[in-house]
Amino acid sequence: AKGQGGGTHRFFLPNMNDRALERLELEQSLRLAIERQEFRLHYQPRIDLESGRITGVEALVRWQHPDLGTIHPDEFIPVAEETGLIDGLGAWVLGEACRQAVEWREQGIVLDSVAVNFSARQFRRQRPAEVVRRALEKAGLEPGRLEIEITESAVMQDAGVALESLAELRALGVQVAIDDFGTGYSSLAYLKRFPITKLKIDKTFIRTLLIDPKDAAITEAIVAMAHSLGLRACAEGVETRKQLEFLRAPGCDEVQGYVFSPPLPVEQVTPYLSGERAL
Ligand code: C2E
Ligand code: CA
Ligand code: CA
Ligand code: CA
Repeated sequence: AKGQGGGTHRFFLPNMNDRALERLELEQSLRLAIERQEFRLHYQPRIDLESGRITGVEALVRWQHPDLGTIHPDEFIPVAEETGLIDGLGAWVLGEACRQAVEWREQGIVLDSVAVNFSARQFRRQRPAEVVRRALEKAGLEPGRLEIEITESAVMQDAGVALESLAELRALGVQVAIDDFGTGYSSLAYLKRFPITKLKIDKTFIRTLLIDPKDAAITEAIVAMAHSLGLRACAEGVETRKQLEFLRAPGCDEVQGYVFSPPLPVEQVTPYLSGERAL
């Protein structure tokens, strides 16, 4: 089960039985990988659209498989979710991102925030605020320098519980962004009550922004709504200058995407963050 090139390998097999077997194999390799610490974080810069300043980075996990090379999270996060392995992996990601933020700070690189993705299960099962509080304390990171990203669909799975968890996270002082916004079914009544700080506009809207006027309208509406709710708006998956220019008019606050930089390993992203190299 490999191939597809680009250093990325897919575990996908078309047959159902093969798929079940492959899940099991993937689960076993994931367990081993966690033991063997084969995970790395890559970091993608986030830019303030008005000033061009780097406001922070998003941590994105990679599996450095000894034989298969770099495996992207879409290939293993869903299985990690189903099997509960995400609890351990997620705790590692959180701890590592906090540790790195402190290391950068010690090098004189002060970021507004380092963002970490939380999956639905991480958000539901553990008491997320307690896990986050311990990670911050262990690393010695100020809560305000951490941003937790939770997808709109994860939050809406049980909006009542989410409301409580979000409130606890905010009480800690961490920032909270709703990820992939526009792809789930947010109840606007809840959105109003969620103590969040940012909406991240899903990259599917950004991709066709300049082709489909409806996507342009949705993007503008999300930015406007974010602002009227007192939230920041961040566009993800911005790949071209033209998309970037479009996003200026509605006043989108932040952008992330290949137009500036893909997610990079720490040794490659650090020169950008320290201003040694412009994006
Ligand atoms: P996401 O949080 O929506 O992350 C954005 C994805 O878009 C990343 O894929 C990133 O590499 C990619 N991307 C960035 N800029 C561009 C661009 O300009 N164009 C395009 N087409 N794509 C861009 P990646 O790193 O493969 O991660 C995929 C998903 O896996 C993430 O989506 C997130 O949901 C999940 N994930 C990643 N790391 C973690 C983690 O540590 N924990 C959890 N629970 N989930 C994670
Ligand atoms: Ca994210
Ligand atoms: Ca996203
Ligand atoms: Ca996504």
